[in-house]
This record gives sequence, C-alpha cells and structure tokens, in this order.
Amino acid sequence: MGIVKKLQSLYQELPAHVTLVAVSKTKPDEMIMEAYHAGHRDFGENKVQDLAAKQERLPADIRWHMIGHLQSNKVKYIAPFVHLIHGVDSLKLLGIINKEAIRNNRIIDCLLQVRIAKEETKFGLTEEELMQLLQSDSFREMKNIRIRGVMGMATYTENSDQIREEFRLLKRIFEMLRGSLFSEQPFFDQLSCGMSGDYRLAIEEGSTMVRIGSLIFGARNY
Ligand SMILES: *Cc1c(COP(=O)(O)O)cnc(C)c1O
Repeated sequence: MGIVKKLQSLYQELPAHVTLVAVSKTKPDEMIMEAYHAGHRDFGENKVQDLAAKQERLPADIRWHMIGHLQSNKVKYIAPFVHLIHGVDSLKLLGIINKEAIRNNRIIDCLLQVRIAKEETKFGLTEEELMQLLQSDSFREMKNIRIRGVMGMATYTENSDQIREEFRLLKRIFEMLRGSLFSEQPFFDQLSCGMSGDYRLAIEEGSTMVRIGSLIFGARNY
C-alpha cells in the first residue's frame, strides 16, 4: 500500500481526538511531500540535525515534532520552529528549552517523558521525579515553557498485556497531574503514546497522539 493509502486508512481508523504524528525519520523529502500533498501536516523526527535540515527544505506550514532524545546543546537548532518536544526528561533540559524559547520570543510546547517500560534502555522520569520537577521553584519560573502533557514508550515486546499495563500507568499519571498540578490549565491535554506496533492498544488506553513511522513509510534501514 502506498503512503497516501496508508494515511487514509489511519485517518479512518483513528478517533477524531487523536493526532497522528507521521514519523518520517530516515525517510527522504519526497516521501514526506507525498504525505503533505495528501493534507498531512504533523511529522516527527528523532534527530536534531535531520529535523532542522528538513524544516529548512520543506514547506513552512509543517508542524515538526521532536520525538527523540534531545541533548541540551542542540536545543538551539530547533527552538525557532519546533511544534512540540515529546521527550523532555530533565529539569536541566527544560531550563535550556526555556532559555532558547525566550531568545526566540516564543512559548515552546513540551511533553514530559515518563518511564513506563521495564526495560533499562528507555529514557524518562519516574512518577516521583516528575512530581519533584514540576514542584520545583526553578520550573515555576520558566515562563516560556508550556507542558502539554506526557509521553511514554512501552517495552518492545509481543506481550500485549504488558504493553497495556504500561500504557495504563502513563494514563494514570496523566490523569493524576491533570487533576492536581494542572487542574487550572486546560492546555494540559496530550497523552503521546503508541507506535506502529502498538497504537491500537494505546488508543484503547487513552492516547491522544500516536507516533507512527514504519506503518506509513515502510521499514527503515539504518
Ligand atoms: C521511531 C519512533 C517512532 C515510530 O516508530 P514506528 O515503529 O516506525 O512506528 C515513535 N516514537 C519514537 C520516539 C520513535 O523514535
């Protein structure tokens, strides 16, 4: 199935409140433009260098999502344009994003990454670290950051019960924050989880944003 067909079948399947981020990492401009011409505007990349280069070459109305691990020293390259940073997992990084946001005279939307997988390799904050960060004085002083919600990645496994359990943990933390620290902030409304292999489960468990790459663009060769 071609890119456009894939997109259309996803649009049909996804509930209206779920945003589809088409993950175009490692894929050429032509493929992105195929999706663009079909009306798609949300694209995700996981490397700063690729994100910045593609943003420069491709249409200005694309909403670029930074979905990978972001290093502090690279924030400056994406701060002028990035639509949403999905994987923020430290106060230090948040501080630098805030500084670059001020420099660019904008507010940058971020999601905090929560460690839901049992694997050691996954990034993210524990619930306790998350609460500490959000309740710190330095976070409260960051006026150019807007936390839109949380993001998580489930364990890479065939065990759908485990994946479901991990998504439920993320949803529980999301709802807990929404009912407490963010109760007066209606823009705290995004739960980013679900990829090609597990997006259906993620939606059943409350995802509002799925990040889908290989299902749309085909397998990647690195
Ligand atoms: C690559 C990537 C995806 C998309 O993965 P697919 O399995 O190709 O859909 C989603 N989220 C993150 C953080 C990624 O790095």
